[in-house]
Amino acid sequence: MDFSLSQEQQMTRNMVRDFAQKEIAPVIREYDRKQEPIPFALKRMGELGILGLPFPVRYGGAGMDYIAWGLACEELEAVDTSLRVAMSVHTGLCAMTVFQWGTEEQKQKFLIPLAKGEKMGCGVFTEPGMGSDVAAMHTSARRDGDFYSLNGEKMWISLASKADFALVTVKTDSSARKASEGLSSFIVDLHSPGVTRGDIHGKLGVRAGATGWINFQDVRVPVENRIGEEGEGFKITMSAFDHGRYTVASGATGIVRAALEASVSYAKSRTTFGKPIAEHQLIQEKIAKMAQDYEIARLLYLQSGWMQNMGMRNTLQTSYAKKFATEASFSAANEAIQIHGAYGFSDEFDVERYLRNSKGAMIYEGSSEIQTLIQAGYALGERIDKPLRCELPAYDEAFWQE
Ligand SMILES: Cc1cc2nc3c(=O)[nH]c(=O)nc-3n(C[C@H](O)[C@H](O)[C@H](O)COP(=O)(O)OP(=O)(O)OC[C@H]3O[C@@H](n4cnc5c(N)ncnc54)[C@H](O)[C@@H]3O)c2cc1C
Repeated sequence: MDFSLSQEQQMTRNMVRDFAQKEIAPVIREYDRKQEPIPFALKRMGELGILGLPFPVRYGGAGMDYIAWGLACEELEAVDTSLRVAMSVHTGLCAMTVFQWGTEEQKQKFLIPLAKGEKMGCGVFTEPGMGSDVAAMHTSARRDGDFYSLNGEKMWISLASKADFALVTVKTDSSARKASEGLSSFIVDLHSPGVTRGDIHGKLGVRAGATGWINFQDVRVPVENRIGEEGEGFKITMSAFDHGRYTVASGATGIVRAALEASVSYAKSRTTFGKPIAEHQLIQEKIAKMAQDYEIARLLYLQSGWMQNMGMRNTLQTSYAKKFATEASFSAANEAIQIHGAYGFSDEFDVERYLRNSKGAMIYEGSSEIQTLIQAGYALGERIDKPLRCELPAYDEAFWQE
């Protein structure tokens, strides 16, 4: 078993770390306070090839593997969650799902501009009355000749106001035997007539990220924009969640690391009762827990990335990674604030932002409770992976880089 990173993986990690530390870290506090996205962030991520990192060069990507994608997410979220969210929804939910389920024509038309960062993408599933129970959605698409007509409202959509393309799952057959068999997925051009959208304000965290709503009123979507067959929308959405959860897991690992580094630095410089607080055993216990959690979270997401590279289904392992890392990041940020004492309670230090940002990841892309149900399902033998019509391709260096 080889735990070392390849040269390409190390180069990717260093390039993304450099970008996040040099270009984002100096301004993130200002934009988080203003509750506005950093205006240049997505453009720069596109220019640097970060948004298309794990796609073959022939599809506009950087030709890196799935592990490098995870390493990039860790580096981005170690600085701010809003950057990693772009990797989750643009690269994970939208582009990676087109890569897995799309036809060659759809890859040419949608994946290439997404991977190059020329167009932004998002993943659109949640509605005002529905989140965890995906099959219970109401937004519908009715076929009308060569088009579908989309109607309904989606809510809590990351990059809703910024994206050009959206992977949208809706109901196409309300009389299906099982509700999950009545769903279909589409790439919708969000500049189409009948699409209105806006941002949600007053969020606890991810304040430098755009989260919003999208309304569809008689939006005409060409049949050729349907991803997969009619009725495959639930499976496609679950594949999208596998991709998104992987980025959430690797990103949350970055928060654990950032909380650990901030805590170590502060604990060495702050003195109480005649010695640095780092020498008090109760503080050491908190720091040891963060260090241990970082190691576990990292190994779990690397396992998932490795399985993707091998072309193995990883829904269960990605669920472990997502639940563990997101809960560990919330705990690490909480303890980092405690170590910083009153200063941790101020936005002059980053640790309070880590706490606010970490909470969302325990809710989105399948809440902690939903991950527990998934894991119990596998453990009890009630849930098994069935082969998909379109599996995520295994990483093949020659194919990816030529
Ligand atoms: C910052 C942010 C960004 C987001 N971005 C996106 C996005 O880009 N695209 C998108 O489609 N959605 C997005 N979401 C929405 C997110 O995916 C949903 O919030 C999530 O799926 C949970 O759905 P819900 O909020 O409706 O909660 P509900 O499904 O109503 O659940 C409420 C509570 O009940 C629990 N629960 C539900 N069912 C069960 C059960 N069977 N057993 C035990 N407990 C249960 C849940 O875990 C939760 O604690 C985002 C949310 C946030 C906060």
